[in-house]
Amino acid sequence: MRTKATTATAAASVTAVAAAVVLPLLTAAPAAAASRQDLAKDVLADDGITLLDSHVSGNDHPESTAEQNVIDTSEGNPASTSPWSDVGVTDVDLSTNMLEGMVSLGKTYSYRVTTIAGGDHSATSYHYAGTAVDIDQIDGDPVNSGNSKVSELKQACEDLGAVEILGPGDAGHDTHVHCAWES
Ligand SMILES: [Zn+2]
Repeated sequence: MRTKATTATAAASVTAVAAAVVLPLLTAAPAAAASRQDLAKDVLADDGITLLDSHVSGNDHPESTAEQNVIDTSEGNPASTSPWSDVGVTDVDLSTNMLEGMVSLGKTYSYRVTTIAGGDHSATSYHYAGTAVDIDQIDGDPVNSGNSKVSELKQACEDLGAVEILGPGDAGHDTHVHCAWES
């Protein structure tokens, strides 16, 4: 009995020492920034984030819908712009800052995304760089001048580092909130 107890104690001590050495190494490691691919997966995994699988314009280009942009990114591939856009069909890497913003917004709101890199926008739009997202529904209600959550969402985008935030009252944005990041 005595021998067993000693052995067990010794084994426990070894385990404790090993843990004491290993754990600080793990916790001290710098937090790796989430990858573009992982962030896209997080967006897809959030049931509160709806990504449109068509274009509000009615144009047919499944390759550049908001949903396909994020699916492509989650698979490690570039996202596509749309043939009727100012830039034609190009490959863009979605912004990790924007994807982080989308994930964070999803923790507070359910929302619907109409477009990211796809669709037609102003000639030098952040959308074509993959750094802008358009949102037309917040917690199930359409974005318009009477939706009180619009100002909340715009503020949330600003708090998340967005540099261009537009919505009802801004030309061309009566039905959606546009949040864009610098890169
Ligand atoms: Zn926009």
